[in-house]
Amino acid sequence: MDGVSARTVTILGATGSVGQSTLDLIERNANRFDVLALTARRDVQGLAAAARRVGARRAVIADPSLHNALKDALSGSGVETAAGDEAIVEAAALGADWTMAAIVGCAGLRPVMAALRQGRTVALANKEALVSAGDVMTRAASESGATLLPVDSEHNAVFQCFDRARPGSVRRVVLTASGGPFRSRTLEEMRAVTPAEAVAHPNWSMGAKISVDSATLMNKGLELIEAFHLFPLPAEAFDVVVHPQSVIHSLVEYVDGSFLAQLGAPDMRIPIAHTLAWPERMETPCQRLDLVAVARLDFEEPDLVRFPALALAREVLREKGAKPAILNAANEIAVASFLDSRLPFLDIATIARQVLEGYAPPAPASLDDVIEIDAEARRRAVELVGEYRL
Ligand code: NDP
Repeated sequence: MDGVSARTVTILGATGSVGQSTLDLIERNANRFDVLALTARRDVQGLAAAARRVGARRAVIADPSLHNALKDALSGSGVETAAGDEAIVEAAALGADWTMAAIVGCAGLRPVMAALRQGRTVALANKEALVSAGDVMTRAASESGATLLPVDSEHNAVFQCFDRARPGSVRRVVLTASGGPFRSRTLEEMRAVTPAEAVAHPNWSMGAKISVDSATLMNKGLELIEAFHLFPLPAEAFDVVVHPQSVIHSLVEYVDGSFLAQLGAPDMRIPIAHTLAWPERMETPCQRLDLVAVARLDFEEPDLVRFPALALAREVLREKGAKPAILNAANEIAVASFLDSRLPFLDIATIARQVLEGYAPPAPASLDDVIEIDAEARRRAVELVGEYRL
């Protein structure tokens, strides 16, 4: 370790797509990192194998009925085990120097808040938590002095290009969107798309939920809201442009007409490495961008008729208050229902709109308020999905 002590790290959602990319970087730099805790929901074998490989001090499984299976899988390893949602929050509060927040959905909210309250560095992949808890979360970070680093490739790109010392010199932030697997399909063709087609993203390999969000463009809508909380600009200053090659990960436009962009291969290990080494840089095994092979970069306006989720998220960003939490919760239920073949693809955005139209609580002032709004919006979405007979 060259006399320098290793940085302690915790990965929330270690068995997922982002979690595994993070583990890959940590394993390649084993002497630089000391893993405090890894967490998962149900993937006992994936969690135990990762905990053994990196010599984690603790492994936590969310589903308590799997605690014995986890103990068996880790017997003789010296890795401590724990189970249940509270145990995940406790793992997040161990005070790691760097925490990767990569649980999918609002399930990650309490663990992220626990990590932020430790006042260290939190690398945020879990956009749903920030969308739902926006001001509550950014306030917790500023109160504890925590550093929140965006992992989402677009926000990480903006973070790398944004002059934080002179936010007044920034005119606009432009998030790029690949357009997803249905970019060129007609509305009629999109009526019948299957879960398997929706999760087959053209450029990125990701978990099922974010893949569906990319197919509806709800992902880009959630990202607009996420960007609003990460960068000090008014809501109207955030734009989206479709860029099918996913080479430019986002752009920052300055008042003088300059655009700064971050480019790279579509590999999440690049933005993750940026947050892991920040403010330094680290080597990654990622493929280098070959500009000549890329040859051309295309840009299009997003189609808000075929992708109403993006229009809906824009409205929600304008109105703020409780709406982002409601949008996110309803979308989570609608996506899970679509993946279970209980809801047609095009009705994901319909469910979100209906829940937003029927439920108007005051803006959340605390974490408990966010959790209550999230629960009620989910309940309403489940009820609406229940009316479908596929
Ligand atoms: P995955 O579905 O691949 O992984 C999710 C992780 O969270 C798994 O470790 C899973 O455990 C765990 N998990 C799921 N539900 C719960 C729960 N209720 N309680 C505790 N743990 C839970 O997701 P991704 O890695 O694709 O995405 C993670 C987050 O990062 C999402 O918010 C996504 O929007 C964001 N993101 C992802 C990108 C990507 O390239 N994948 C890019 C940018 C952002 P188990 O495996 O046991 O189910």
